[in-house]
Amino acid sequence: MSPLVGVQGLKKHFPVHKGVFSRTAGFVHAVDGISFHIDPSETLGLVGESGCGKSTAGRTLLKLLEPTGGTIKVDGVDITHLDREGMLPYRRRMQMIYQDPYASLNPRMSAGDIVGEPLIIHGDGANRMERREKVAALFQRVGLRPALMESYPHEFSGGQRQRIGIARALALDPELIIGDEPVSALDVSIQAQIINLLMDLQDEYKLSFLFIAHDLGVVEHISHRVAVMYLGRIVEMTDKTTLFEMPLHPYTEALLSAVPIPRARSRGRQRVILTGDVPSPINPPSGCHFHARCQYAMARCRVEAPLLREVAPGHVAACHLHDAGVAFPLAAAA
Ligand code: SF4
Repeated sequence: MSPLVGVQGLKKHFPVHKGVFSRTAGFVHAVDGISFHIDPSETLGLVGESGCGKSTAGRTLLKLLEPTGGTIKVDGVDITHLDREGMLPYRRRMQMIYQDPYASLNPRMSAGDIVGEPLIIHGDGANRMERREKVAALFQRVGLRPALMESYPHEFSGGQRQRIGIARALALDPELIIGDEPVSALDVSIQAQIINLLMDLQDEYKLSFLFIAHDLGVVEHISHRVAVMYLGRIVEMTDKTTLFEMPLHPYTEALLSAVPIPRARSRGRQRVILTGDVPSPINPPSGCHFHARCQYAMARCRVEAPLLREVAPGHVAACHLHDAGVAFPLAAAA
């Protein structure tokens, strides 16, 4: 199967300006050479702490931010350097759902107008009546009564607002939806409802998802594969089951320690407490970016960045411990 989206060596660096002349004093390496693909009808979870560059990666993939380097392909076509007009047919194929549905919905527009707006922008829906019918069908599909089309965002609950955001994203019949922490602001019970809705929509419309979250527990249910990101780089990527059963990177192990998992699966594992914060991406640590927080760091880790390489079939990780022949999982009890 050829991928719907393929990203190779994607970079997004932001200049940091200083002084009265606003001279460039450095760069924020928000996304620093990441590669992945997403197949049709597949969900790739993208996980890491806040400040790891996940959201920037999602926005750069959609070209809401211009990439600093690397390539983005959709159905094998390189879209990296397309201008606004050239991007139009691709924009409708790739939509975004945001973390804060309230902030992302125009408070002065009715919910029906918000959902129908992309149809006007892209010239879909020949007349007002057809648009209304399509919007009503979208409301129904995401579990909202069409009678609510005249209501305004402040009249909805958080979960309902996220359903409006999903209906808007669906309006143009996209093939890929990027969810930027789409359930992080919701109560746990509502999170499950929204995740189940997204999975139903994936089955029905053969959608692909890039599902961004800071919590591995959130992506477990919805993802087919998971990529773990740390300070602008992907440090591990494999299918969901393997990642949860046999993590091959110390950072992934630490993230997994924070996830409540059934006793049977946690047997024989020790908790790995992640200390400190994600370092600044303006001046990231030398070598392995994770070395200052890694309890297994060796001298080599401070000077040499580990390459992301296949350490088991279909399982890539970036850690020098694999060269040293160290057995994983590291946190298994002796
Ligand atoms: Fe830890 Fe070294 Fe592996 Fe980085 S390369 S995760 S510092 S052991």
